[in-house]
Amino acid sequence: MYGVPVMASHGDPLGELVLTVLSQSTNDRNRDVAFLRLRERFPSWEAVRDAPVEEIEEAIRPGGISKVKSVRIKAILEAIGDPLDLSWMRDAPIGDSQEYLTALPGVGRKTAACVLLFAYGLRDVPVDTHVSRVGMRLHLLEPGAPFDRLHDQMLAITPPGAELEFHVNLLRHGRRVCHSQRPACRACALRRMCPSRQE
Ligand code: SF4
Repeated sequence: MYGVPVMASHGDPLGELVLTVLSQSTNDRNRDVAFLRLRERFPSWEAVRDAPVEEIEEAIRPGGISKVKSVRIKAILEAIGDPLDLSWMRDAPIGDSQEYLTALPGVGRKTAACVLLFAYGLRDVPVDTHVSRVGMRLHLLEPGAPFDRLHDQMLAITPPGAELEFHVNLLRHGRRVCHSQRPACRACALRRMCPSRQE
């Protein structure tokens, strides 16, 4: 139904990390506006790290809850320190990178998975609110499980090489058909196999 998404790895783990923080509680458009403003106003991530938090907040204001996000972005960049570089993750064992990323302030498994998958095409699958809802309704994921466990379950059922496709298409299905409120089960291509379908 949704095809196979084509999206080359962009090779920018720091950018992905900041983008994922900016994506919290907002839509993609506002997230992108906030990210572009941040990139325009500061010449480097080092400059963001060393800037007063008020300046970061002003730059990312269109992304919403900018007070919280500016503090978090600065804290993350400071925790990475010098050099401000995550390119070692391209060739590191995935477990080491996950451990490093989830030790950063406010960074969980979903953000870590976004960084590893979108920056380098590594084997991790982000489980966001849409992916978890659809996965649970299809009984692919354990209802009510904590997000760490959901990520492990997601990886266990994802064929190697299909990480991006599985993530993107569950997300699309959640946005377009399997809505949080009133899922469109009658129009759903998965209804015959879905234990949660509503007649
Ligand atoms: S049948 Fe309904 S609950 Fe199941 S996946 Fe489709 S839209 Fe979601």
